[in-house]
Amino acid sequence: MAEFVKVFNMKGFDRHSTPRWQMVPVSTTDKRWVALRGGAGFTITNSDAAVVSCTEINKSALPPGGELQALQSGDRILELKGLAKGSARITATKGSEAVHLDINTKEKKTVRIVFNFVEDSASPKHKTTRVPASAGQWIKEMNYIFNGQANVWLENKAARWVTAPLNLGSTITTTQSGTGEEAHLYPLGETADCNYFFVWKMDITDQAGDEDAFAEGKNIVFEDTAGAQVTETMSHELGHVLGLADHYIDARKRELMYGYTDARGVHLGKDDVNTIH
Ligand SMILES: [Zn+2]
Repeated sequence: MAEFVKVFNMKGFDRHSTPRWQMVPVSTTDKRWVALRGGAGFTITNSDAAVVSCTEINKSALPPGGELQALQSGDRILELKGLAKGSARITATKGSEAVHLDINTKEKKTVRIVFNFVEDSASPKHKTTRVPASAGQWIKEMNYIFNGQANVWLENKAARWVTAPLNLGSTITTTQSGTGEEAHLYPLGETADCNYFFVWKMDITDQAGDEDAFAEGKNIVFEDTAGAQVTETMSHELGHVLGLADHYIDARKRELMYGYTDARGVHLGKDDVNTIH
């Protein structure tokens, strides 16, 4: 039976959606590739050639580098180029058999981020152990998650120390619905699409468990011990700023928005990418 499979990892292919799905940037240079497996003799059609172009190419014409998947000898490689924002369906048919690939094309979305490293005015002062010098590597690792899969580009607008004008104590506390001490942090931020506030320790006092981080509006409060996989946890919180919800379905553990820290993966599926834009 014929099926569409991904050619490169982390490039916005979702095999868990039905039909399978591919994100394609609207770009003349940032293309995507999928393979039609078991598709010898199939006729390939494209529902909207104004949205995406679909051209069959030889394997040898694939670009070098990237996380190339193991391909099979009969795989037919399709090159996809986004021409305008929209949706299209690629269909392969042979006799009564038909297999589909749904496509959404996405414009590049730039998200400007400010990393605020918090200290307070206590004596001695409380301060995060994280440092601005880490921001460059974080942005790189977070872009690995967001660029290829979602055509979202994270920009490091600033990474700097900020000082809260009071003693915030050994734990910065807040509540689920109310406003807590984060009210002293948010004014320290800068105009951006997202402000991270790195703090020593935070807790949501009316919620069970020991929280490490939370997102509210464009702000993320993130403590020193949040997640062993730091940029994955940071990316997860950014997912919330971009409008994504947690999910707790075991079958989606591979995804970034799986609700449990350090148990999740880095994939963004069709629904999440479409929610972001
Ligand atoms: Zn979450």
